[in-house]
Amino acid sequence: MLSKVIIANRGEIALRILRACRELGIRTVAVHSSADRDLKHVRLADESVCIGPAPANQSYLNIPAIISAAEVTDAVAIHPGYGFLSENADFAEQVERSGFIFIGPRPETIRLMGDKVSAISAMRAAGVPCVPGSNGTLGEDDQENARVAREIGYPVIIKAAGGGGGRGMRVVHSEAALHSAILLTRSEAGAAFGNDQVYMEKYLENPRHIEFQVLADTQGNAIHLGERDCSMQRRHQKVIEEAPAPNLSKTLRNKIGERCAQACREIGYRGAGTFEFLYENGEFYFIEMNTRVQVEHPVTELVTGIDIVREQLLIAAGEPLGYEQKDVRFHGHAIECRINAEDPNNFMPSPGLISLYHAPGGPGVRVDTHIYSGYRVPPYYDSMIGKLITHGETRESAMARMRTALDEMIIDGIKTNIPLHQSLLEDTSFQTGGTNIHYLEKKLGL
Ligand code: ADP
Repeated sequence: MLSKVIIANRGEIALRILRACRELGIRTVAVHSSADRDLKHVRLADESVCIGPAPANQSYLNIPAIISAAEVTDAVAIHPGYGFLSENADFAEQVERSGFIFIGPRPETIRLMGDKVSAISAMRAAGVPCVPGSNGTLGEDDQENARVAREIGYPVIIKAAGGGGGRGMRVVHSEAALHSAILLTRSEAGAAFGNDQVYMEKYLENPRHIEFQVLADTQGNAIHLGERDCSMQRRHQKVIEEAPAPNLSKTLRNKIGERCAQACREIGYRGAGTFEFLYENGEFYFIEMNTRVQVEHPVTELVTGIDIVREQLLIAAGEPLGYEQKDVRFHGHAIECRINAEDPNNFMPSPGLISLYHAPGGPGVRVDTHIYSGYRVPPYYDSMIGKLITHGETRESAMARMRTALDEMIIDGIKTNIPLHQSLLEDTSFQTGGTNIHYLEKKLGL
């Protein structure tokens, strides 16, 4: 087993990783910025190292500082969590070159999946269904690009190969607008991502976002843990996630899940990962792969009973997967509400002192958060301060438990989006299930 792990992240996921390490008897080192001395996991870790000032580019994104911290503490492995350096192939490579274990896929895999064009080609080759598109980057030939667009059929979407965070995309409805859209997306992508390669896809008008969780070990075994529906989004940011996806047949789940697991075997994937799809009219279309643990992993843990972070640590230690596909059973329904420190009306961040925190509880209620009464939410990072997750025998019971839990949860001193979640739990379309990715923004009048 790994003797000591560096937790190269902050907030709830850092605490989540610490808990998984504790359970396995792994010692922990919290590396944190000077603004994060009061984080719960920093207090609980066996050791802590301040790696820089508040701005993330000087601390949580400071590769030499993190590797030095691993050296001085005699750690053997680094868990990057999500966000920050978790999908940075150069970081993974430097971690391995310095003699440490990177808890995640091989650097080459991160690089392959980080470029959406190469990711799509690899997935198409592995038999994963993709969005009809240009099958590669677009060249300079306007007539050829117009021909590709006609073949795909309008509307099309121009996307940056190196894009991320919902940026670097442009929808095109007619041939007249195509040329300038390609030029604009190209120049924006070059400026934002340092890569001006763009590609074209069919624009799906009313899809749902459904993603599949996979686990793969270093012995070549790979399994899927079913899907999550993350269609409730604002500005491409997920707000509520659930498992399983409402109204998805078992046959289709098993078919797509098995394709994802097979793709992992073919590319030699290692660790936990997520295949993101758009789902429309009963068809799945791969859009990208995330090569890390995701914010919404708990809903999968609650319906499968499998601890995904524990599996990440075991895989990194070289252990074979503890489960075969036939051992993965799906039980009940789980829903996650992301709790953000923000104004529920205008979504402005609301950092500051939490004067009182009271956690909800009871059967089927899980709270993943680092906050406590007296904790001050710093203004420098993401506004997510925790996740409230409920599980029940049915979707209805998971929703009923979520309503009660949201009412019980008290976070005083700052504004949170709890009222938004309360209104969504009363929304009849959400209650029916299966709303598409535009639903929330339409409801909010955006
Ligand atoms: P990012 O890495 O920036 O998150 P994605 O490729 O995952 O980019 O796409 C982000 C979001 O953009 C999707 O969840 C979806 O809402 C929208 N989108 C991307 N591709 C398409 C498409 N072909 N048709 C319709 N919407 C799309």
